[in-house]
Amino acid sequence: MFSGNEGDMPVNTGSKPDISREKSKELYEKAKTYFPGGVNSPVRAFKSVYGTPLFIQKGDGCFVWDADGNQFIDFCGSWGPLILGHNPPKVREKVIETMQNGMSFGAPTALENELAELIIKNNKHVEKIRFTSSGTEAVMSAIRLARGYTKRDKILKFEGCYHGHSDSLLVKAGSGLVTFGETSSLGVPKSFAEETIVIPLNDTEALTQAFAQFKDQLAAVIIEGIPANNGLLIQDPAYIEFLQKICKDNGTLLIFDEVITGFRLGFEGAAGYYNAKPDIVTYGKILGGGLPVGMYGASAEIMGHISPDGGVYQAGTLSGNPVAMSAGIAQLTELLKSGFYKELNAKATEFAEGIQRFATARSYKFKVFHVGSIFWFAFTDKDKIQCAEDIDPASMEKFKVMHRELLNRGIYLGPSGYEVGFVSAAHTKIELEKAKRAILEALDIVFRK
Ligand SMILES: *Cc1c(COP(=O)(O)O)cnc(C)c1O
Repeated sequence: MFSGNEGDMPVNTGSKPDISREKSKELYEKAKTYFPGGVNSPVRAFKSVYGTPLFIQKGDGCFVWDADGNQFIDFCGSWGPLILGHNPPKVREKVIETMQNGMSFGAPTALENELAELIIKNNKHVEKIRFTSSGTEAVMSAIRLARGYTKRDKILKFEGCYHGHSDSLLVKAGSGLVTFGETSSLGVPKSFAEETIVIPLNDTEALTQAFAQFKDQLAAVIIEGIPANNGLLIQDPAYIEFLQKICKDNGTLLIFDEVITGFRLGFEGAAGYYNAKPDIVTYGKILGGGLPVGMYGASAEIMGHISPDGGVYQAGTLSGNPVAMSAGIAQLTELLKSGFYKELNAKATEFAEGIQRFATARSYKFKVFHVGSIFWFAFTDKDKIQCAEDIDPASMEKFKVMHRELLNRGIYLGPSGYEVGFVSAAHTKIELEKAKRAILEALDIVFRK
């Protein structure tokens, strides 16, 4: 088996013929008559890579199958939620069991308590929580809470961090927006955007300046636990420490948006990883086990400001939905088993480092940035990329080629070079070796002279 060592490199095999996309094309044409761009979330439209989007028929373990019957080893994992892989029996069974009793009541159920208990008992960053139905809602509510709590209006976010699509956060956000080369969305009133200050990551000077300029006006600073929506921009612990201190000194709340990193880097997410103490945290993705769930949480004192205890209003018809709660309970129960993260992270590290060794041996301008089970392929020779500006947009052309070569070799990555990939517990060493070999072949093609 290929070990990623120099003596054992695959030979350049040349491009493979394109996979059949006939059924996907047909579905896409129809979808375009129903949905803007044929999709219900923009990055799915494959605008940044070659070909029409693949319509997925089913998933099992680390695999997905498209409508044409092509099989792929999947590293998108529904954009992060599927840390156990696709359709894990334990999650599926629990969901089906719950559904036998009905799907929604709009009244409290014991399942909400059960999921909350799993989280609060095992995560020292939250004393009380509120479930929502998406990450966007969780973050939007966390911002409102911070504003209500501090009685201040302005928030500060970072260029290259994505926090969902609520108005005040669609200000030079990352993810799909950067992919499309836009800096903000139409339809966001200028007056809303003016309440949001945007500065570069990893820049203590800019942070100090922002605090000097907007003294006593900043309700919150929001940062992704580890920014992973616009490349993987791993911040230094010293910077996170500085951020905490400046917030504390100014009575500004620090929000860690852990919608990707929560339950991914470990059960306590990036806060646990940095040993940080954010005032409010937001979760989503993994929390719902593939069903729509978000959550925000904080100390009991801060959460006491949420309605009906306090004056900050926030609600949801399907919040705490029993079926979604069940998926979360089943998934988080697996994550709490001893050694889960250690094993997953070791597997992902070996995968990332194997690819890197090959690229380095071939002197390719290519880096695999990785943390825990998150990885990002960057066509760069920089040793670190810690802010959005350090990403070369021209390098995305190389990603496009890589993406096509990988699809043709049965590997599915998110359709944008700004997106990270995820290793799940369902990726076996055998599949990771297969994927690695395909990636190395694709790299040989990308860098073919
Ligand atoms: C995905 C994501 C969101 C938005 O969550 P949705 O469930 O898509 O609304 C917010 N913040 C971060 C960091 C995310 O990765």
